[in-house]
Amino acid sequence: MTKKILILPGDGIGQEVTSSAQEVLDYLMVENALDFSVTHMDVGGTAYEKHGSPLPADVLAEAKASDAILFGAVGAPQWDDLDWDHRPEQALLGLRKELELFANLRPAFLFNELASASPIKNHIIENLDILIVRELTGGIYFGEPRGLVTSESPHYAFNTMIYNEDEIRRIAKVAFEAAQKRNGKLCSVEKANVLEVSKFWRSIVSDMAKDYPDVELSHQLADNTAMQLVLNPNQYDVIVASNLFGDILSDIAATLSGSIGMLPSASLNSTSQGMYEPCHGSAPDIAGQNIANPIAMIASLAMALKYSLNEAKLAERIDNAIKTFIANGHRTKDISTDNNSLNTSEVAPLIIEILQNDSAN
Ligand code: NAD
Repeated sequence: MTKKILILPGDGIGQEVTSSAQEVLDYLMVENALDFSVTHMDVGGTAYEKHGSPLPADVLAEAKASDAILFGAVGAPQWDDLDWDHRPEQALLGLRKELELFANLRPAFLFNELASASPIKNHIIENLDILIVRELTGGIYFGEPRGLVTSESPHYAFNTMIYNEDEIRRIAKVAFEAAQKRNGKLCSVEKANVLEVSKFWRSIVSDMAKDYPDVELSHQLADNTAMQLVLNPNQYDVIVASNLFGDILSDIAATLSGSIGMLPSASLNSTSQGMYEPCHGSAPDIAGQNIANPIAMIASLAMALKYSLNEAKLAERIDNAIKTFIANGHRTKDISTDNNSLNTSEVAPLIIEILQNDSAN
């Protein structure tokens, strides 16, 4: 049956990096005669300018009908003052919510050749390989009530951090199962010392541990994890955290690996439907300059092939091609240590060349 892929480039470098991923996808579709249909639509600020909404209804409908969504990035300063419902980020939050993409998988790994691009000493980050499982559709980003009150003095604003038992169990299940397939270690992160919701989170995850005797479970306070990720990241295998803590910790982990431009992510629901996006944003500071690193987006395509499109072998070939690309010394500006760097548009053709060679051998 035809698999449906929806490409949503979004704003800023989202446009540039999705175009690179599409080149790789086009190549693989021809090479393997894949029965995929590919559609492009606007989201974010770009969609707001053209259609008056960051997530137009037809885009949402198409997303719901797709097997995999390749999402670039959204946002830019010119839209920062729009009212909440029109802000580009609503596209992302809306898709996560509407498609119930509750499990965000964010691998953080280091290509040892890039250790010098990391701000952390080499011996600390060598062989870094962590998976952060972040809850994506609940917690404080969606909790009600929320608001800004200006009718009282002093003015105030508030949000609600809330998780029910089912939400905690379904994300913890993803994390326990991921740990089983990796090195059997799971660290659950919260702030059980100060937050009721965290204490509840800890008790549920602890209760589930008996069903996973092969997984070594630990608990850690989020502030400590932020510090430990920098001091000794190799102590972790899989980390599971709420929406807020996972957001912060995965960006720290991304920095360890040298550039946020290298790291993909997958957001999955309870079917195999998923949205795949780089961990980075729309990078307005470098947008339109053809210097963004598209590897995170290309690696996100690999995750889509693996988790939603039933093409795990092709996913592995892309991952290997990226390793070869780095081993061959190819660098975009963000990971280059000299003045010799590739433009965004030069990356996909080199990855395709490596894929062509591996299929010929
Ligand atoms: P950002 O990730 O866009 O950029 C942070 C820094 O990393 C910048 O210096 C940028 O140039 C660099 N960078 C990011 N991706 C890169 C790449 N592929 N290659 C080379 N360098 C790269 O984060 P920000 O600056 O905090 O946010 C910019 C905009 O993006 C904001 O509007 C924000 O809301 C939005 N944002 C969107 C998403 C998303 O769509 N998923 C995620 C984060 C931020």
